[in-house]
Amino acid sequence: MLVYHLPGTLDTREADLDLLWAAGATGLEERAGVIRAYFDARTDLPPQVGDGEWREEADQDWLAEFKRTLRPVRAGRVTIVPPWLREEVEAGQLPLVIEPGMAFGTGHHATTRLAVEALSDLNLATLGPEGTGARVLDVGTGSGVLAIAAALLGARFAFGVDIDPITIPIARENASENGVPAGRARFEEGTLGEDALTFPEEDVDAYDVLVANLYAELHDLLAGDYAAHLVPGGPLVLTGILTVKLPLVRAALEREGFGDVQETLDGEWALVTARA
Ligand code: SAM
Repeated sequence: MLVYHLPGTLDTREADLDLLWAAGATGLEERAGVIRAYFDARTDLPPQVGDGEWREEADQDWLAEFKRTLRPVRAGRVTIVPPWLREEVEAGQLPLVIEPGMAFGTGHHATTRLAVEALSDLNLATLGPEGTGARVLDVGTGSGVLAIAAALLGARFAFGVDIDPITIPIARENASENGVPAGRARFEEGTLGEDALTFPEEDVDAYDVLVANLYAELHDLLAGDYAAHLVPGGPLVLTGILTVKLPLVRAALEREGFGDVQETLDGEWALVTARA
């Protein structure tokens, strides 16, 4: 197996990843500060990614290897686990089972964990009209992990949207795996803004809680739509924000009239909460 080892991470060299794909990489992953790009044959690479090294490695079952390394992830009252670690969830914790696959959101990224912790800190079961449970909108749902966490934490229903159609059946399957019925967690392809989809719950044009694990520039673009889709005073939970990009998000929230802005940091990642 031919692997090109490039120093850096998928985040720090995000701009170079397209060059690797364009050069014929069949897969990319990151381990211990090195990007591993898999190729079928050696090829000339552009100078921007010329600081790496070609290596022939013994074939290995990488998926099995990856699965062996997974551990339960504790996030507030929730523990996120792959199906084969379900029995390892401690008593008193809510198990959230996610099959690692094509959609982002296994709980192993700091931003997912931060967002589940923030949802866990909200009293989702007693928010909403007459305290019957929060109506939660999850923008950029991926594996559905945040919408499913909200439903498990007592939300009346959670609605997950994503622009990537591949995520929708995965999120639905994960909800079903967690015993969350379609009436409590729905998933549709879509987004906010110009291409906003029509929300299936017709009586709902504003949600009690909005959570979005995207990135700072997109939060800046969507901040007005976040305000439009939240009830007055409703909590907004944003992550996927690199700490260096926090000023952009702060400014967007101030521009759109959000208050009570609070930040939680985890390494290079930040989570921001605010109220509409
Ligand atoms: N919510 C999951 C989590 O917290 O682990 C997945 C978050 S993942 C970082 C971001 C997801 O947002 C991806 O599935 C991506 O397809 C989706 N996405 C990107 N831009 C979007 C947009 N403008 N509207 C809706 N979803 C978007």
